[in-house]
Amino acid sequence: MKMDQKERRKFQKKIKELEKIKGRGTELISLYIPPDHNVNQEVTRLKTEYSEAANIKSKSTRKHVQSAIKTILQSLKGVNELPENGIAIFAGYVDEENEVKKEIITPPEKVQVNLYNCDDKFELEPLKKLVESKEKYGVVAIDSKNATIAKLKGKHMEIIQSFGSQVPSKHTKGGWSQRRFERIIKQAKHEHYKKAANIINKEFQDDEIKGLIIGGPGQAKDKIDSDEYLNKKIRNKVLGKVSTGYADESGIKEIMEKAQDLIQDLEVQKEREIIDKFMKKITGSETATYGLKQVANALKKGKVETLLLSEDMNWKKAKIKCPECGEEKEEIIKDKKEFKKQGIICPECEEEREVIEEKDVAEKLEELAEETGAETKYISTDTDKGQQFHNAFGGIGAILRYT
Ligand SMILES: [Zn+2]
Repeated sequence: MKMDQKERRKFQKKIKELEKIKGRGTELISLYIPPDHNVNQEVTRLKTEYSEAANIKSKSTRKHVQSAIKTILQSLKGVNELPENGIAIFAGYVDEENEVKKEIITPPEKVQVNLYNCDDKFELEPLKKLVESKEKYGVVAIDSKNATIAKLKGKHMEIIQSFGSQVPSKHTKGGWSQRRFERIIKQAKHEHYKKAANIINKEFQDDEIKGLIIGGPGQAKDKIDSDEYLNKKIRNKVLGKVSTGYADESGIKEIMEKAQDLIQDLEVQKEREIIDKFMKKITGSETATYGLKQVANALKKGKVETLLLSEDMNWKKAKIKCPECGEEKEEIIKDKKEFKKQGIICPECEEEREVIEEKDVAEKLEELAEETGAETKYISTDTDKGQQFHNAFGGIGAILRYT
């Protein structure tokens, strides 16, 4: 199954949320079950773990571990067949929410490990690997004499083609005049670049490749990146250039080593550019807006060109019901902790209200953007600017097509 941008984003967000949860003791349970595994065996294992947990000295840890296992057992009850990719379940007591939280994840790719883990944090590495390995890049190492074209998927590299050129060396000059010799070299180089470009244009034409990185020892990497050789679609995908010692497989490996930083840098840079654009518009003209209400309105009117969402914006649109007076209300919950402390009590009858439905605000906005042809950009809080966007603008902004 192919995971699209949106699914991946959702998946990464879930991982991030789970990553933030810390146990007071070793009391957070992670369970990975591959699709071909027997559920009954897992149930037996959990029951064993449950009785063994009775030996845990700390009373609160014991209680938390056992209730987490119980929660997982409950969700496995009645399950005979696992989803096609298997399942990952996380359960543990969350201090701030004063309850056992459970998260069931059906991953976009097959779960490979069968793992039970009890720690003060959730075991998320196997899930992270699933997201990482999905990114594909084209990698080209080229000089005037050689070219190697490869595909990079996660940390795996696949050579598509590697070949040498027919460019004559100085030693084969023979009886040609200097001018004629130079012309021959020029022509041979041109043929070499053309051959490489044709392969690149053909291999990377679909949207599977997220970006292209071109490397090599000399100027060939810049020469080939022109309209004369690469088509427009491919050129738009060029993420950057990397200097390497050679244009063979070792050159590809060198690019791979350097590309990890490059990909990251470029993503950070792109993010910076989009925030700069937003900030400039928000302070200058009127072609930008921020805040949930304003942005949602602009989206509905089809005015939004780019929707900006902070990765750390975790607002929920919730339906809340009071069991006493039966009053239902829609509310935006910005901070669960705050809500549990203050918003949970019904102002009328002072009963504790229940959240009966919950939707992710970012997801809703992204859907609206999709419907109206707006582009959605997620902004991380890894940079100062990203943090500023989150803190000063609530993590919701939009660059408008018009006012
Ligand atoms: Zn009430």
